Amino acid sequence: MKVKNLIIGAGISGLTAANYLDDYLIIEKENNVGGYCSTHYVKDYVWDYAGHFFHFQTKEFKEKFIESLNKDEFVTQEKKTYIYFDNELIDYPFQTNIHQLSKDKFIDCLYDLFNKEEKENYDNFLDMLYGKFGKSITEMFLKPYNEKLYACDLTKLDKEAMGRFFPYADINAIINNMKKNKNNSYNNTFLYPKKGAQVIINILMQKMKKEKILLNTRVISINEKKKEAKLSNDEIINYDNLINTVPFNQFLKLFSNKEYEELSQKLTYNKVLVFNLGFNKKSKYNKQHWIYIADKKINFYRIGFYDNILNSKKLSMYIEIGYEKEAKIDEKEIKKQLELTLENLKKMGIIDDTFKLNAYESIIMNPAYVHIDSTYEKQVRKIINKLQLNDIYSIGRYGGWTYCSMEDCMVESKNLISKLEDK
Ligand SMILES: Cc1cc2nc3c(=O)[nH]c(=O)nc-3n(C[C@H](O)[C@H](O)[C@H](O)COP(=O)(O)OP(=O)(O)OC[C@H]3O[C@@H](n4cnc5c(N)ncnc54)[C@H](O)[C@@H]3O)c2cc1C
Repeated sequence: MKVKNLIIGAGISGLTAANYLDDYLIIEKENNVGGYCSTHYVKDYVWDYAGHFFHFQTKEFKEKFIESLNKDEFVTQEKKTYIYFDNELIDYPFQTNIHQLSKDKFIDCLYDLFNKEEKENYDNFLDMLYGKFGKSITEMFLKPYNEKLYACDLTKLDKEAMGRFFPYADINAIINNMKKNKNNSYNNTFLYPKKGAQVIINILMQKMKKEKILLNTRVISINEKKKEAKLSNDEIINYDNLINTVPFNQFLKLFSNKEYEELSQKLTYNKVLVFNLGFNKKSKYNKQHWIYIADKKINFYRIGFYDNILNSKKLSMYIEIGYEKEAKIDEKEIKKQLELTLENLKKMGIIDDTFKLNAYESIIMNPAYVHIDSTYEKQVRKIINKLQLNDIYSIGRYGGWTYCSMEDCMVESKNLISKLEDK
C-alpha cells in the first residue's frame, strides 16, 4: 500500500497533523485515539491522565477551542495553585512567595538570594537553580521537588530542561511580589472542557475518516532509504513523508542503525503513576486547583482537584507520583502507593475517616517527562535533523523529545504540514 503521509500515533499531535491533510494513514497501537489527551468517565467523575488543562498562548487555537464548544461546555479558570510546605499552603511559585514562610526560613532564603553566585553560563539544571535562586530556595523547594518529579540526579538535566515552563524570577520580581502579589508564572488562566481533555480529540476526529486510522497496529520497522514501514500485521506501507509521534527512544529502535540504537539506550525519562480518586463528599480544600509537594516523606509530588476546577460537589482528585525509567510499577507497588496516598491525604487534612473512596483508577504514563539531558541533547537534535533529509519528521512532546504542552504539539503539527505543502 502507498500513502503520501504516514503518521505514527493518534495522540493530539498525530490527529492535528491529519486534520490538515487529505492523503494520510494513521497507525495507532491502542484500540482508541487520543494518546495522553484521553478522558475516562467513571461513575460521576471525569478523569484525565493527571489533569490536562489548556493554557492557550496562540489566538488561533484558543479561538478554535472556544468556537467549537458551547459556553456551558467548558470553564475558564484563573489558576489557584499552592505549595504544601511545613504543613501549610503557600502560594506558587515558591521563589516569589518566600515572604509567606516562617521568619527564620524567609531570612535564610532572602540572605542566600542576595548573596548567590550568579554565572554567565550554567553547567546543568541544578547548577542553574543554585546560581539563580541561592542555596535556601533551592534546597527547601526547587531541588527536592524536581528530584521527586524527574526521579533523577538534577545535574544530568540541561539548564534549559523545562524551557518556558520554569517560573524564573529575578530579585526585583521576588521583592516586589512581597507587597504586590503578581502571579507571573507561564499559565495564569486556563480553559478546560467539562467533559475533559478528550473533548478536543473528539473535535479533531469530526474532520477525519475512520478508515484512515488503523487501530491496534504498530509500526515494527522502518526502511529509511526505501521509504517503507512494516506493520505488526505484516503489511508494508510505502510513504512520501513519515510523521512520527511515538516516543523518540522507541522510534529509534525501528531502524536498523547502530548509532540510533545506542542513543535509544542512553535516553532517560521518568514514569508517572497517576491515581484518579473519587470521594463521596467535598473536602475543606475547596478552592485549590493543584498543589505541589516537595516533602520527600509524602509519596506524591503534585495533586489536583477536578471538583474545584469544574465546581462539582464531590472531591475528585488526581495524584502524581514520579519514578525513574527502570522502576517496576506492578500491582503490589500500586496497592502500596494507594495506601500511602490515602494516609498522606489524611495527614494533609484533605480527607478524614468520614470520607469514602467511591471510585478510583491508576494510570502509568511511560514516558511522562523526558530528561533533556546535557550530554545527549545535541545528538537527539542531530538525528532529528538527519531524518528530515529522508522525509521523516519526529514531532510532539515525545517524538520531539521535549517538554511541551498540548497546544505546542498542535502548533508544531500545523506548521509541519504547511512546510510539507511548500516543499
Ligand atoms: C503528568 C502530565 C501532565 C500533563 N498535563 C498537561 C496539561 O495540563 N496541559 C497540557 O497542555 N499538556 C499537559 N501534558 C502534556 C501532554 O500530555 C502532551 O504534550 C501531549 O498529550 C502529547 O501528545 P502527543 O500526541 O505528542 O503524544 P501522545 O499523546 O503520547 O500520543 C502518541 C500516540 O502514539 C501511540 N503509539 C506509541 N507507540 C506506537 C507504535 N509503536 N505504533 C503506533 N502507535 C504508537 C500511542 O499509543 C499514542 O496514542 C502533561 C503531561 C504529563 C506527563
